[in-house]
Amino acid sequence: MPEGPEVRRYAVQLANALENQPVTHLSARTRDAKAFLSEHPDLFPGRIIERIRSHGKHLFGVFEGEIGFHSHLMMWGRWSVYGGGETIEIDRRERARIETPAAIAILLSAPVFEIFQGEPYQKIENLRTLGPDILPYDGPFDAALWRKRLLSEENLEREIGAVLLDQRISAGIGNYLRADILFFCRIDPYKRVGELSSAELAALSEEIPRVARRAFEGEGVSVPPALRERLLSDTSLSYGAQIREYGARHAVFRRTNLPCLVCETPVKQKKQVVYRTPDGDDENEPGDERARIIYFCPNCQNVDMARFERVKKPRSKRAAIGEREASASEA
Ligand SMILES: [Zn+2]
Repeated sequence: MPEGPEVRRYAVQLANALENQPVTHLSARTRDAKAFLSEHPDLFPGRIIERIRSHGKHLFGVFEGEIGFHSHLMMWGRWSVYGGGETIEIDRRERARIETPAAIAILLSAPVFEIFQGEPYQKIENLRTLGPDILPYDGPFDAALWRKRLLSEENLEREIGAVLLDQRISAGIGNYLRADILFFCRIDPYKRVGELSSAELAALSEEIPRVARRAFEGEGVSVPPALRERLLSDTSLSYGAQIREYGARHAVFRRTNLPCLVCETPVKQKKQVVYRTPDGDDENEPGDERARIIYFCPNCQNVDMARFERVKKPRSKRAAIGEREASASEA
């Protein structure tokens, strides 16, 4: 699933290809956008594309005259950019297409592509509620706002691993980022927000933008260069040669049973209950409960593994007798 760094790369790619160009063609196959375009066929052609941005996992474009589009990729969506004038057949997964004389951008498989008129943060409700972007365009990560939202009353009893996915608190964190951020901060994913120490809060506010920036610049690699080198060169640290490149991207994410990069304890994976809003974005909305896999080092992150032990069944009489006989014969 594309997380903030992946969506930002699409936004940069689209901005480089389309900004300051006039639209020659814009089409959509999502229901509302398609209906809007058939009612206003002449609205887009000739308009200059002023800017394309992302905020968290949302991507939007603003055209001259305060009109624009908003997309969310969910699980499978992606943008592809081609040279202007190329002939690109319509794929059945195509959701939208924006053409200028210089480039063609095509959105595949994304369930959300909508057109808005006005200011994006006023017109698109999902943008309005987002927390500070983990990859801010200008200035540093807004740690003060992040902390204020994180520590609001309704979050104190929630687990930090679940809350990191809440896009209203910080926008752009998905499953690989949350696992690695918590590992680098040495924080138990199941720890409640209200129990985090001031040192842990400070570590999180530094690591969130740091790991996000590294993953953006490193095309999805969330570990620092020295760890990346170790992961690529030491075969005992990944599952095997064929998947070594992919297996060398993260510190704990999808490294179940492989040695921790710090203490060599096997990395664990467990389910963690999070919530999901109707638009499929990971946010903690009570009522739509689901679990996501979290990865961690039980030693470095001080996770109490007893919490996962099943309630033991009462031992059968027969097993107890067998055990007594065994100890009698040993004696
Ligand atoms: Zn460890």
